[in-house]
Amino acid sequence: MRDGRRLRAVLPGGSSTPFVLEKDLDTPMDEESLNAVGSRLGTGTVIVLDDQTCPVGMLANLERFYAQESCGWCTPCWQGLQWVQLLLADIEEGRGTLEDLQLIEWHAQMIKPENTFCDLAPGAMEPLASGFKYFRDDFLSHIEEKRCPWVGTSAKWSRGGR
Ligand code: SF4
Repeated sequence: MRDGRRLRAVLPGGSSTPFVLEKDLDTPMDEESLNAVGSRLGTGTVIVLDDQTCPVGMLANLERFYAQESCGWCTPCWQGLQWVQLLLADIEEGRGTLEDLQLIEWHAQMIKPENTFCDLAPGAMEPLASGFKYFRDDFLSHIEEKRCPWVGTSAKWSRGGR
């Protein structure tokens, strides 16, 4: 880690895998071990979330990428991911509500492999669903404070690092 920064979590297998928390950092990089802590090996490309980066901004950035990558074949993907990324942007920028959060959670539950033709959209939901699980207080603080608590404190992921 860079000086002064603490690791908060990692996406162990690329941007479509669930977070692994710091407490599980010594988990071996194999499918079985990562499954045991609720994640996947995926591509094996580790992405690190530190304690000075907004997790909501990070997830908004990931979901914007997946929304742009949708080929448009299935409705849950091309419409669902658009909604998710717009709602996340609202929360990240201080315009979000608890209803928005519930809508995103509903999408994360509904966009499953059985509802789409390929794994792009379900994969996009994996870091998001685990983000809700582990960083729920961060989502709530954006809504309650009507702003991103990280503004002015770190390089942000949202909107390409504003
Ligand atoms: S889930 Fe796959 S096939 Fe369906 S719209 Fe998204 S990218 Fe296309």
